[in-house]
Amino acid sequence: MADVSQPTYSIETLLAAAETGFGGSVPPAIVQTSLFTFETYQAFEDRMSGRTGDPVYTRVGNPTVAAFEEMMALLEGGETAVGFASGMAAISSAVIPIVRPGDRIACVEHVYPDAYRLFEKLLRPFGVDVSYHSVTAFEQEPDLLKGVRLAYLESPNSVVLEAMDLAKVAGHAKRHGTLTVVDNSWATPIFQRPLQLGIDIVVHSASKYLGGHSDTVAGVLVSRKELTDKVREQALTLFGGKLAPFEAFLLVRGLRTLPVRMRQHQETANLFVEHLTGHPLVTRIHSPAAGSVAGLTGRTGLLSVELSDRVDIPAFCDALKLFHLGVSWGGFESLILPSRVGLAQAGEQNSMQRFGVSDRLVRLSLGLENPQDLWRDFSSVLEACAK
Ligand SMILES: *Cc1c(COP(=O)(O)O)cnc(C)c1O
Repeated sequence: MADVSQPTYSIETLLAAAETGFGGSVPPAIVQTSLFTFETYQAFEDRMSGRTGDPVYTRVGNPTVAAFEEMMALLEGGETAVGFASGMAAISSAVIPIVRPGDRIACVEHVYPDAYRLFEKLLRPFGVDVSYHSVTAFEQEPDLLKGVRLAYLESPNSVVLEAMDLAKVAGHAKRHGTLTVVDNSWATPIFQRPLQLGIDIVVHSASKYLGGHSDTVAGVLVSRKELTDKVREQALTLFGGKLAPFEAFLLVRGLRTLPVRMRQHQETANLFVEHLTGHPLVTRIHSPAAGSVAGLTGRTGLLSVELSDRVDIPAFCDALKLFHLGVSWGGFESLILPSRVGLAQAGEQNSMQRFGVSDRLVRLSLGLENPQDLWRDFSSVLEACAK
């Protein structure tokens, strides 16, 4: 990669200028190999004894994956990054090397459902205590983190999208020696850089905005080298949730357009929030605005709205033309996810049921369609489905 790490360049420039190819090619090569061979016994021994750093085996390191990791470290302003097969692989790999039986995790309420399941179904039976707290408690109770090993945060959190003052919480955490992890999938480093706010580890589901094209499931973790070394050794190598070279190639491609896509998502979201505010069929809007907490500089296309009980939600979802029903978010296509589907889920209690979400809520992922087209579809169908 060319040295474009001068702080004088903006993020758009860094992303466009990052050299990932070799021999003059622009994109990175997809280095589709499981292992790397060595010319000589000496070269092999030098590598295995740690005297050189050449790649050995793709579970542990691969040049295409490294190209993506370098871009992510640059974007988040961290020392190094580790790519993973999914956001959940990044999350579990961030948490598991840090906590031991008897430790406590303080987690934000309305956390991503599978992170909640990781804590409740896997870590709790291993003797890790987990407590859940509101955004306000994290911000306003400086002693909340006393005796806590790890604060697991999302800002904003899932579905209800409450943003948190990360600098403030990072300050509390430092006083108690608590490590902090933030899931930054919603804001992306374009709109929020948690490491600059004092957070220790950033994780992402790269399946969302970073990839941006609904064609890849992947994850990434960014931190200082001391922590990423531990994650590489104890989680990436031993659990083996590695990012594949082809997915890394797609992610590098996605990252090149991230700033433009985020600007477009923001424009559409601003238009929606403007029209939804005071709308007679809307009772509440969940969409953190730029500047609503320190360090958050943009609004993204993932927002939730609570609809008046005059609206027939299933009929509304079915009648929309430009919004597809589905999980996930962050692609070019618009999606709708009614909270009723999550609340109706059978089996053990999920995070939506535990933390309580209005059954009038629908989550929207506003894509890259024309903003006026999207609003026309949404508003005309909303009115048609109201009693
Ligand atoms: C989707 C998502 C995840 C999980 O990511 P995967 O790539 O699906 O494993 C984690 N956090 C948030 C906030 C998400 O939306």
